[in-house]
Amino acid sequence: MNIHKIIRAITAAILVSVTLISCAPTGAPEVQEPKTKARSNYEFFDTVSVIMSYKGDAEAEFSANATAVFDLLGEYHKLFDIYHEYAGVNNIKTINKNAGIAPVEVDERLVDFLLYAKEIYTLTEGKTNIAMGSVLKLWHDAREHGADNPDGAYIPDGAALSEAALHTDINNLVIDEENSTVYISDSKMSLDVGAIGKGYATERAAELLISRGVSSYVLNIGGNIRAIGQKVTGEGWLTAITNPDKTSSESFACKVKIKNTSLVTSGDYERYYVVDGVRYHHIIDPVTNMPADYFSSVSIFTLDSGLADALSTALFCMSYEDGLRIVESIEGVEVIWITKGGEIKKTDGITLV
Ligand code: ADP
Ligand code: MG
Repeated sequence: MNIHKIIRAITAAILVSVTLISCAPTGAPEVQEPKTKARSNYEFFDTVSVIMSYKGDAEAEFSANATAVFDLLGEYHKLFDIYHEYAGVNNIKTINKNAGIAPVEVDERLVDFLLYAKEIYTLTEGKTNIAMGSVLKLWHDAREHGADNPDGAYIPDGAALSEAALHTDINNLVIDEENSTVYISDSKMSLDVGAIGKGYATERAAELLISRGVSSYVLNIGGNIRAIGQKVTGEGWLTAITNPDKTSSESFACKVKIKNTSLVTSGDYERYYVVDGVRYHHIIDPVTNMPADYFSSVSIFTLDSGLADALSTALFCMSYEDGLRIVESIEGVEVIWITKGGEIKKTDGITLV
């Protein structure tokens, strides 16, 4: 990890410790809350992953569950990597390298994920598009350069962004399920799965834990929270939505109790760089090829962490009305939007604590 990544991981670690606020239920609890167990890992998706048990299970059982989850996350980390290849694994980087050249045979988990990403593209009306790699790379390179050389920070050239945007048609991602191959038919197109990969892997980890008979566990994979069940007392976990206004003394914008759901936030305050006093963050609106300019953060509450991750990016890139229309068409999705002026908007199913 380079220094920026370490700082990001530490920031995420601090977030992890404060995001889930332990809360004693009012009155005498009928069931005593067991001691929490937690284990962290800093190797995956450029962030910190934490598994927490509130169940009171034996150390050996918790340890086996944590190992299984980190093994699984490690495998998805390799499959989703766009910067590195690994011995014996064809991953997203391999697919990108072979754009316009040849189909690549991949693990069926990667086929399933890419099929899901295409569904997400349709559901989000093109706002969450993993085929935007060419555009995202221009922003990524500018952001990394700006972080290392604040005085020489620049924004990507508009003509270069427009040219790159010509090569983002997800229909050029050709998936052959039968032969388990993937081919990018446009040689200038590339995939970047940063908007949904972490959430998708989180959901697979949750599935694994559930298949092992687990409840009263929480996964926090770089801020993607997945609550499996509820506390043994029957309570939900108290979570806090970060205040996007970092100049404020209030760390949190609001608090919500969650059970059996995911909570994923996309915000303009997490990864950004500054050019001439203006902040440029990392979520790019495919309509403008510029950092999305609608909200400071959007938080999605829904069971499936992959869907939550995909929708948080998408709704961050569209108006309140468009976002509301999309989530109203899907069962079981609630949203908190924080506007650039700090106003909190929410869907009816959210109760603030
Ligand atoms: P984070 O991963 O920081 O929690 P997101 O889930 O919103 O936040 O994902 C942001 C990442 O997704 C970016 O770093 C970039 O790699 C990628 N990305 C940015 N904008 C888009 C977009 N409109 N569609 C698909 N991927 C995007
Ligand atoms: Mg996302």
